[in-house]
Amino acid sequence: MTSNMYVELTAPNEVRYTQPRGLFINNEFVASESGATISSIDPATEEEIATVYAAGEADVDKAVRVAHKALKEPSWKHLSASDRGALMWKLADLMEQNRELFATIDAWDNGKTYQEALENDLVEAVGVIRYYAGWADKISGQTISTTYQKFAYTIRQPIGVVAQIIPWNYPLSMATWKLGPALACGNTVVLKSAEQTPLSILVLGDLVKKAGFPPGVVNFLNGMGAVAGTALVSHPLVDKVAFTGSTATASTIMRLAAKTLKNISLETGGKSPLVVFGDAEMEQAVKWSHLGIMSNQGQICTATSRIIVQQDVYDEFLTKFLETTKTTSKVGDQWSKDTYQGPLVSKVQYQRVLDYVRIGKEEGAQMVSGGEPVPIGNGGKGFFVAPTIFTDVTPSMKIWKEEIFGPVVVIAKFTNEEEAIALANDTTYGLGAAVFTTNLEKAHRVAAEIEAGMVWVNSSQDCDPRVPFGGVKQSGIGRELGEAGLDAYSQIKAVHVNMGNRL
Ligand code: ADP
Repeated sequence: MTSNMYVELTAPNEVRYTQPRGLFINNEFVASESGATISSIDPATEEEIATVYAAGEADVDKAVRVAHKALKEPSWKHLSASDRGALMWKLADLMEQNRELFATIDAWDNGKTYQEALENDLVEAVGVIRYYAGWADKISGQTISTTYQKFAYTIRQPIGVVAQIIPWNYPLSMATWKLGPALACGNTVVLKSAEQTPLSILVLGDLVKKAGFPPGVVNFLNGMGAVAGTALVSHPLVDKVAFTGSTATASTIMRLAAKTLKNISLETGGKSPLVVFGDAEMEQAVKWSHLGIMSNQGQICTATSRIIVQQDVYDEFLTKFLETTKTTSKVGDQWSKDTYQGPLVSKVQYQRVLDYVRIGKEEGAQMVSGGEPVPIGNGGKGFFVAPTIFTDVTPSMKIWKEEIFGPVVVIAKFTNEEEAIALANDTTYGLGAAVFTTNLEKAHRVAAEIEAGMVWVNSSQDCDPRVPFGGVKQSGIGRELGEAGLDAYSQIKAVHVNMGNRL
């Protein structure tokens, strides 16, 4: 351990801690070969929090090679499935013991509120690792009836070295969604964090080592997508790529992974519809639809960003939605207890959201709330944007079609169920969707008709580690979470045993 691998930090909420800065390879923090670094910025103040080492091609190669070696070591390969689960359980316990620290780091680095990080992200992150720890020794094959002279069975085996690339909206939580099933199935991992939020993954690296994972099983890299990400996805010793991020990057990754026919799973963008029928419980529909787009600053891939409301309740819904936004969506820094919406993650994201606001106005949509930067920080610093609501939106508009990934919602009207379904499905995406109605038959009928990987009935965004998550159309390939999440990280081997078929 060299001292320049760590830096002592004090967060704005007075939490003091030691931040690792290195690349976490083979259970050690090391500098990048080239000395390259990236900076993490507090999006509320625009000040630098820390610089951490950024991986180049040589570092990626090193990480993949140790993961490849660890895969074949008895310390991992021959570890009993129950012991693997126990290691994961230990990691979850250590994470839980450090939950205030993780919530502090992700709030500081990403801009989400400390309260949201603590009560949502950390509960989820710990819960996901525990959920998959429980699966580790419950993964089994089959015996298959064939003929009297053949005994056939299957074994579920790990895929191998798994490259995992995660986004910045839930830095720790996204890492656990990827690590949980990969480790439960016995793979080894090289995970790259998003360049905007490099910090919490390194603290997790410390805990991976403390929990007792053998060296090389879990490796964490920071680095730029175009450099470290590309090198990782292209590496010949990587057997699988799991990615969460934009659809455009997913398409690049698919192309890079195609060269050596890597197994892939992709979780990408969305423009998820939320349909409010006239018979919905209005107060609840309003509260959930507000949370569905405005929580986490709207930076959620499943954010229900297109609200479609039945004509007879449209005016009532809009009035109440505006009121709820006004009273609930308090914009502020990450640390105040009454902040609902913190800053957006980066200047790029801030600019992108404001560009969409401008485009929406130019396209002729009616902006009924928000749309402007909110000067909160010192001298107007910080990437704060007011929660923004557009009405009179038509399906030809960009703000209807494209993922904005910010606190911006479009609201449209429909007359009947058929039209609601057509509007909901009028998108190249298919990640989440929500339906609000008190009519049981209608709820299930519409849930079945909407082209999405997940449909919430009378709620939005309340994911659960036990329930599969993923998209259809251009929202992704494969599923995370739940038992389905294991399929992405294991492969079936068939064994044919000759029971006396002599030639
Ligand atoms: P965003 O535009 O919101 O930053 P991205 O899809 O570009 O979303 O980023 C998600 C993750 O993908 C990040 O970890 C990023 O570094 C990584 N990434 C970006 N470009 C590439 C690439 N060409 N190859 C591999 N990973 C990439």
